[in-house]
Parts: sequence; structure tokens; C-alpha cells
Amino acid sequence: MAERSKGMTGAATRATRLAHAGRDVPTFGGKTVNPPLSRASTILFDDLASLSDGKDRRREPDFIQYGRFGTETHTALRKAWSELEGADDTLLLPCGLAANVLTLLAFVESGDHVLMIDNVYAPARGSCDGLLAPLGVETTYFDPQIGAGIEELIRPNTRLIYLETPGSHSFELCDVPAYVEVARRHGIKTALDNTWATPLFYRPLEQGVDVSIQAGTKYLGGHSDVMLGLVAASGETFRILREKCDLLGYSVAADEAYLALRGFRTLDVRLRRHEAGALEVARWLASLPEVERVLHPALPDHPQHALFARDFDGASGLFGIVLKPGFAPAAVASMVDNLTYFGLGYSWGGYESLIVPSPVEKMRTATSWDAAGRTLRLHIGLEDPADLIADLAAGFGRLRDAAQAAE
Ligand SMILES: *Cc1c(COP(=O)(O)O)cnc(C)c1O
Repeated sequence: MAERSKGMTGAATRATRLAHAGRDVPTFGGKTVNPPLSRASTILFDDLASLSDGKDRRREPDFIQYGRFGTETHTALRKAWSELEGADDTLLLPCGLAANVLTLLAFVESGDHVLMIDNVYAPARGSCDGLLAPLGVETTYFDPQIGAGIEELIRPNTRLIYLETPGSHSFELCDVPAYVEVARRHGIKTALDNTWATPLFYRPLEQGVDVSIQAGTKYLGGHSDVMLGLVAASGETFRILREKCDLLGYSVAADEAYLALRGFRTLDVRLRRHEAGALEVARWLASLPEVERVLHPALPDHPQHALFARDFDGASGLFGIVLKPGFAPAAVASMVDNLTYFGLGYSWGGYESLIVPSPVEKMRTATSWDAAGRTLRLHIGLEDPADLIADLAAGFGRLRDAAQAAE
């Protein structure tokens, strides 16, 4: 296995740390490998003194005071994830979108301004327009390629620059350090939704970003059965996020934390398999006459491939293709509807392959999307890539037949 470990600190590699991080939570008692699945609302204290003492100790990383703030199951996941991110601590949220929204709400008040990347996950855009705007917080969307030019969009009331790289439909990458440099000079916070790469393949905090966001629903859960969001940060930034999280009353079930920690242990082997399978399928798709373009950051012809090579340790299993223009909806349906191994559904990051239409042009306002043909998004699961290619080859055969029949 090729060891790719840009910027790694400490002795052990990341793969090793995935097996060991978060296993030093006191309540394990040294008896089990995994933390107990501790479901709790009430935590009982021995006496009045420790009950009142508990209020002050609630902020201690291992202390357990009340179910809403988590039990040792949550603590184990928080510690493990923070180690992978290189963060002081991590907040657990009920889903990825809750992690996006907490980050948006944490640093603004009425009258403030947010700069949001135009390729952002569409529901996070919805929260800017539908939640922040009525609260008196204005959002400006910006071209992902604007880089240091972001400075011209900064106003005296700008509080947050929010990034996502690559965009989970367009697969555009942005030059993160360029944004961080400008933000720091102006005393503005930066946040980044890192769901595509996970901190195994890209670590925003190491590039100076203040807040790293993850939809744990995707690769961390890994089995299409967990809803979870994570927000990792350090110092004063984490303190502000935690305070807002408490005020919003977010809480996560111990079952979800337990399953996410199980996913954490196998993240390295799964992601490398997703990566290899996706690259094999993407290269094959690039050779087809019906495919105009493959949107995959690890391929050398991707427009921001140089950023990928500079900043990332690997690629995950999600990418897009643009079909040549002119295929009728019915022809595309005959291809997609009859695939054997590709499910039609939202989310991704599970062990199974998925395909969905991806109307990228409808998900942006500051920039236009120049592809004339239809865009499809594929998630390559843990199946044998040869079977996936055979399945897609039959699908493209149906597309070709349907297009010819229509002529
Ligand atoms: C899926 C996703 C989310 C939201 O996660 P949920 O758990 O579905 O709320 C946020 N950001 C990105 C990039 C995603 O892909």
C-alpha cells in the first residue's frame, strides 16, 4: 500500500491511528475493545457535592453530565475524529446539514454578511437564503475560482467565508490557502465542508481553515444507515461553536455515534477501495464516445488537477460525467433505469454504487455551468469495478440503441 501522508505529525500513520484513536476513554475499564453503547438521558451523581461540581466540569473533554451532551460512546468518537482532523475537539450533530447550519449560525448576528462558495451543497445554500436572510444576515455567492480576488467582496460586516472543495456535484476545487490568507488579514473566519475527501485525504485545519465540517452520513458511516454531522475546530473557534450548539439544543443518539465509530475503524481500507474503483470506472467512461467530459479531480485533464495534486492525499468514490449533448430524456432513462448494481438515490459514501442526474446549472447563481449535455453523478461502491463497468457498458448500449431508434 502506498503510504501518502502529507503533513502528518506524530509517529503512527493515519491507518494505524484509525485503529487506536479514541480508545482511551476512562469508562471502558480496560474490558472491551469498543466503547459501551451508552444510551442515556439522566446521569446519576453520588451526592449533592458532585452534582453541583458536575456543572462546572461539563466542559472537561471526558466528563459526562447529561445525555444531551453525550455519553462515553460520543466521547470516544469525538476524540477519535479530533485526532484525525488535528483539532482540539469535535461537535456531533444530528446530520451533515445541521453541521453546515451550526457553522453558519455560530459566527453571525443580524446585520452581518457571509461569503459562500457558488458550488456549495444545495441545502446549505437553502439555509443561507431561507434561514439567514430572514434573520438579517446577507449571503454573497462567489466564483469558486476567484481565489485571492475574494478580497473585493469583503465588507466591513463580513464574518465568514464558507468553502466546499470539491463541490459535490460540479467537482470544482478551490485554492483554499488563497482564501485563508485573505480571511486572516481581515479577521474573518473560514469554514470548509470536507465531506468528499474526509480528513483521511484532505485536512482543512492543516491549511489554516478554522472549521472543518463533515457529513458523517457519507463515508464515516459508510453503510448507508447513519445520519450524523461533525464540526471540528480548536481554541476560541471551538468554544464559540460549542456555545451555539448548546443554545440550539442539538443532540445525537448514542447508536449513531457507535456506528460512526465503527465506520471510523475501517475508513482507510474502504476509502482506498472506493478511490481505486472510481478511478478505474472514470478512466473507462472517459474513453466512451457518448461521454463529453469526466468530472474527477484526480484525472490529469480536470481543470483544477494541480490543486488536487498539491493539497490532497487521495480521491474518494464520487465523481460526475457530462454526456454529449442531444440525448433525449427517454434514452437516458433507458440507460439508468435498467442498471443492475447502481442504485438511484441520494446520499453516498456507503458500500454500494449509486447514480443520479445532477442538474449542476440549477445549483449556482454567481457563475454559469457551461456543459451542454446532461450531467450524471456516480458513486462507486465496494463492488468489483469490472462488474460495474460491465453494467455501465450495457447501459451505454441501451443509450446508443434508444438514440438510434429515435433518429
Ligand atoms: C450529504 C451532504 C451534506 C448533508 O449531510 P446530511 O447528513 O444528509 O444532512 C452536507 N454536505 C455535503 C457536501 C454533503 O454531501
